[in-house]
Amino acid sequence: MEMISFHNDRIFEMNNKVILIGIPFDAHSSFLPGTALAPQAIRKAFYSESSNLWTENNFDLHLVIRDAGDMEGSQQEIFHSIEAHTASLLKDEPLISLGGDHSITFPIMQAFHKKYPRISILHFDAHPDLYHDFEGNPYSHASPFARIMENGLAERLVQIGIRTANPHQREQANKFGVEMIEMKDFRNDLQFSFDTPVYISVDTDGLDPAYAPGVSHPEGGGLTTREVVRIIHSLQGTVVGADIVEMNPTRDVGEITAAACAKILKEIAGKMLSN
Ligand code: MN
Ligand code: MN
Repeated sequence: MEMISFHNDRIFEMNNKVILIGIPFDAHSSFLPGTALAPQAIRKAFYSESSNLWTENNFDLHLVIRDAGDMEGSQQEIFHSIEAHTASLLKDEPLISLGGDHSITFPIMQAFHKKYPRISILHFDAHPDLYHDFEGNPYSHASPFARIMENGLAERLVQIGIRTANPHQREQANKFGVEMIEMKDFRNDLQFSFDTPVYISVDTDGLDPAYAPGVSHPEGGGLTTREVVRIIHSLQGTVVGADIVEMNPTRDVGEITAAACAKILKEIAGKMLSN
């Protein structure tokens, strides 16, 4: 009897949902197209029968992921569409977006900030993405966190894995009070704690190219998949949203990167369910 009752409780808890959307958009990529193909590639790896949908903290995602499909919209008004679509999906369940290039995080955060006026961002990336503009484009995938911080959309921005900072981006980080943990200073025992809701933004190139070759801007000397997963598992705070961006299937090798993104997606969802 106890077993049955436990099982039922578990099913009851599993009514919590995590919403998944794809944002197939790469028009603000500065170097290569291709990230628009990522939602399809990551879903294929995520649902592949090569693995199962159990998270390491023991949730069966079969029961809890509600896939809202890929967003459609005109490329001209894409930021407005992303903000409006995110806002329409953002109820009480956590939301995970599959990009797309990193430019999408700015309109996503416009929607999150309205729902969560105090929100912090945990950002994995090889790049700070703090350019005031990149080659004249203030909405480039190299600039989303400049726009987010200028507009006061995040209380804290903690960046992990950075290994391409230049003087301009360091100046921007100082100006906005960004907590930039460069890869050269990364230690495996770092713990992250937030007293606001947390949004996790995973740029796939934060991972080392050995783990994630399928990106447009590979930069050696990066994080392992396990280091990213460990930080997600151990972070203290309520995770209300996330994105996984910059995965480029046209550069992938043997679907290694799609599998790494699918793994990170699973563990973020598991973390959200443990909130
Ligand atoms: Mn990057
Ligand atoms: Mn980025």
